[in-house]
Amino acid sequence: MNKLERKDVIKLAGGAVLGTAVGTVFSGAPFLGLQWLVEWTQDQYVPGSGDEKFIASICQSCSNKCNLSIRMIGNRAVKVETSNSACPVGANALQLLYHPERIRQPLKKVGGKGNSKFKPVSWDEAIKDISAKAEKLKSENKGAAIAAINGQNAGLSGQLLARLLKTLGSASCFVEPGLATLSAAAVKATQDIDGSLHYDFENSDYILSFGARLVEGWGEPSRMNKVFAGWKARKAKYVQVDTICTRSASIADQWVPVKAGSEAALALGIAYYLMKMGRGSNAANFGELAKIINADFTPEKVSQLTGLKPEAIEQIAKDLAGAGNAVAVAGRGGWGVSSSTAEFVAVQAVNSLIGSLGRRGGVQVAVNGGLGEPAVDAAAAESIKKAKKQSGLDDYIKNGVQPELLFVNEADPVFKSVYGAPLAEKMEKTAMVVAFLPLINDTAQYADYIFPTLSWLEIPAAKGKDAAAVKTESKHAADAILQIAKKIKGSDTAFAWNSFKDIIAAAGKTEIRGAGNLTIPADVMKAFAAELPKKLAPAKDFPLAMIPFEAALLGDGDGLAFPYVLKGLDDTTLTGRKMWVLMNPETAKKHGASEGSRVDLESKRGEVGSVKVHLTKTIAPDVVAVPLGFGHKAYTSYAKGKGVNPKLIMSNDIDSVSGAADWWYTSVKLS
Ligand code: SF4
Repeated sequence: MNKLERKDVIKLAGGAVLGTAVGTVFSGAPFLGLQWLVEWTQDQYVPGSGDEKFIASICQSCSNKCNLSIRMIGNRAVKVETSNSACPVGANALQLLYHPERIRQPLKKVGGKGNSKFKPVSWDEAIKDISAKAEKLKSENKGAAIAAINGQNAGLSGQLLARLLKTLGSASCFVEPGLATLSAAAVKATQDIDGSLHYDFENSDYILSFGARLVEGWGEPSRMNKVFAGWKARKAKYVQVDTICTRSASIADQWVPVKAGSEAALALGIAYYLMKMGRGSNAANFGELAKIINADFTPEKVSQLTGLKPEAIEQIAKDLAGAGNAVAVAGRGGWGVSSSTAEFVAVQAVNSLIGSLGRRGGVQVAVNGGLGEPAVDAAAAESIKKAKKQSGLDDYIKNGVQPELLFVNEADPVFKSVYGAPLAEKMEKTAMVVAFLPLINDTAQYADYIFPTLSWLEIPAAKGKDAAAVKTESKHAADAILQIAKKIKGSDTAFAWNSFKDIIAAAGKTEIRGAGNLTIPADVMKAFAAELPKKLAPAKDFPLAMIPFEAALLGDGDGLAFPYVLKGLDDTTLTGRKMWVLMNPETAKKHGASEGSRVDLESKRGEVGSVKVHLTKTIAPDVVAVPLGFGHKAYTSYAKGKGVNPKLIMSNDIDSVSGAADWWYTSVKLS
């Protein structure tokens, strides 16, 4: 491995986690977000005088649900303290609370869709119109033409939307693809359980990550920061498999640099050696997988696919087998995770061979309590039964019916999905689109109604407690959905709660279970084994592999509306409105590029440009590393028009099990 350039390693300090605990404790590079936060507050708003007090709040940005303590001066929130491990996402929540472009009242579209022109409308008028539309569709037996898209952290409001759609006769309620949806698809495919994978990192002593950028926003950032500190303290070994030397790779005990897109091949190559060492698996159909491994993932073939020597693969297998509480982790990326069900199965096969399923320090299954099933009348049940089924959001956008009523809840699929453009076209033809959001994003441009939602700081930590408050007409998305549902005849009876606070009390808790036994979906693995070598073979027309990474705090795009994030971007990530991509110097030379060259990136889906090239040896040969999160068409004046969105040209092959496009690896050329 070439000696790393320190500035590049810091530059790749990906996703939102990153920063505080990891950066400060282990790299000595202090995270400056809190300083900027104070500047934002002081430069633009002078806190009124008054008494100082601290009130409790809970960050809702991921499932970690961290406790926050907010410092108040009079009635103004001036600083957020985190009480359980620092994570800058929660710590910078003031940026949303006092954002100058926050939506302050319900909005109604004026003129054509996609033009961002809205006028204020009352809550009552908007709810009356939306509920009448839903009721009409139901009465005409067109419930299946109602759909909903939830953001990954929509939580209870997402469950309410799913419930509402069922009472109207639709099962088309989707979550934006990411770690949670992919993990859920893998658990369903291998164990027939509605749950997601839970890694017992707190007790692992050998962690083998197949591209999961564990300290860059992955999973629960605050938990991962603490977990990482624990690994260091007790000398657990963290091994990062990745094509580029991200922050995770640079602070891991071992970086395993593999060829782009070959993580699952490595997992199956390791499984080969584990089997050779006499390790067995109780997974049903494992014999079928063993045949696939022995035929298609021999050391020589895996060496060709990954670029690693067979001895290096064997050594990882030996280390895994020799560790006490080892675990293998699937889910490539940081905040934006993309993978395939086959990749999750390959990694779970490794876990089954090392006995990590359900074991301390291994992998378990988390099952959400939820709200239970609503009563559904015969017409709605029949409508759901007859409707065309889609396995996930991208599958729905590509192959699903044209909706007549679409809800979008705390999500931005027009920006984040590789099917964003076709979704926008679909939304232009949708009679009514309703969005629940605090800021107008790329997706909201196509909405007919937008309801303003609360920032977490405005949600009391417990019933009867204080919260920070800003004068807007915002409501919790769950309350807005509840109000709509209660106005729809036939649906109203399934929504007995008065507010989202009652719903929190009613929702079941998440339960962590032992992983139990797997069933290997042999057909999925056969198809994967046949496709992978073709996918990874060098393409004559598109000789470079485009792989994503995430800049600090920007994540997969949600961070760009906030000035502190812009302030933290260095001048080889964004200069003015120009975005940079990263290349190895030798690769750049081969393709006629040099430091600062302006290039376009082209895949078989089209072209984006122009971007500038930064040369760094932290990127493997024949790879272009491209940042996610840029190229918004809306999402406030801070984010709009900065850089380009690579999702427009990223691979859009849809995983048949999860229904999500696996966009991680895309063949491109410079043009
Ligand atoms: S880990 Fe970070 S993003 Fe997640 S809840 Fe805690 S503060 Fe929020």
